[in-house]
Amino acid sequence: MFEYVGSLHMHSKFSDGSGNVDDIAMIADDVGLDFIILTDHNTLRALEEGYEKWYGNTLLLVGCELNDKVNKNHYLAMNIDKTFSTRLTAKEYVKNVKDAGGIGFIAHPHEKRNSMKEHPAYPWTDWDAGEFTGIEIWNHMSEWMEGLTDQNKYNHFVHPLRSIVTPPKESLEKWDELNEERKVVGIGGIDAHAHKVNVMGFVEVEVFPYKVLFKSIRTHILVDKEFDKSDANIDEVKKQIYSSLENGRCFISNYYRGDGKGFKCFVSDEINEFQMGDTVRVSKNLKLNVTLPNGKAEIRLIHNGTQIESAQNSQVEFNLTEKGQYRVEVFKNGNAWIFSNHIRIED
Ligand SMILES: [Zn+2]
Ligand SMILES: [Zn+2]
Repeated sequence: MFEYVGSLHMHSKFSDGSGNVDDIAMIADDVGLDFIILTDHNTLRALEEGYEKWYGNTLLLVGCELNDKVNKNHYLAMNIDKTFSTRLTAKEYVKNVKDAGGIGFIAHPHEKRNSMKEHPAYPWTDWDAGEFTGIEIWNHMSEWMEGLTDQNKYNHFVHPLRSIVTPPKESLEKWDELNEERKVVGIGGIDAHAHKVNVMGFVEVEVFPYKVLFKSIRTHILVDKEFDKSDANIDEVKKQIYSSLENGRCFISNYYRGDGKGFKCFVSDEINEFQMGDTVRVSKNLKLNVTLPNGKAEIRLIHNGTQIESAQNSQVEFNLTEKGQYRVEVFKNGNAWIFSNHIRIED
């Protein structure tokens, strides 16, 4: 298996971000990301104008963030080549993306904001919207804005990474609940805009530079074949990335708490190994193997939405005796670090 590290969910000048697409991609290459997915609001202009390509060792892919008429139900649509009218309902665009062969993720589903009038919250409201691929369980900007108060404003602006502690509890609960019915993939996003904001009346701060957010929440994918970085094979690599995201063969990390690259989480019996996103037949001797890349941390085993075991270690094997959906969370000193996708055990 080959692991590649990406940053998802960001905006350029083609919607309400402040960066040029190629500058954003070059920053990602500088930081060492393997891929990034641009998601400007309701436009695929970057795709149409030929920005989907390699920038050094970083592949930039173009999706978009759709919304409904009242600017709710933000949906990260990927692997599509045309966008849809904002007059549609969430149910309609979820279906359209799927019918077009794309994948889609509910963005910041439980966003709450009240600190800046000009930046209200855009939560997901239509949970009957059909077959979305997954949900963004962790969004940097949403958590940062939610935690912003008049008292901590200064600290919050100065330490944009330190203030990111854990995904919303509601999102994790909803994610587990949805997985009882079918596979719903979890991804993490940064929602970078690099807006200039006036803090305390006189200082102008960029909230936040792309470079800063590229060191925050990341989505790591696992693929069977090494990326072929020739320009002629972009479509093949694109397919590898989107198929890992679609299948849940991926995990989320907060780079600020440590480089998550090398995290392993798989189920094994005597013969086979099963990866995140896989469905495994129930049998004796199933073990969930977890290995951390960076020393010890708290590894929590979640079964059908409930934590059933934990270990403070760099490696652990959990015996899996029951059917259901299993996933792993890793915390360092109480701060969330890594979230695996589910592995399902069925009859
Ligand atoms: Zn949004
Ligand atoms: Zn966004």
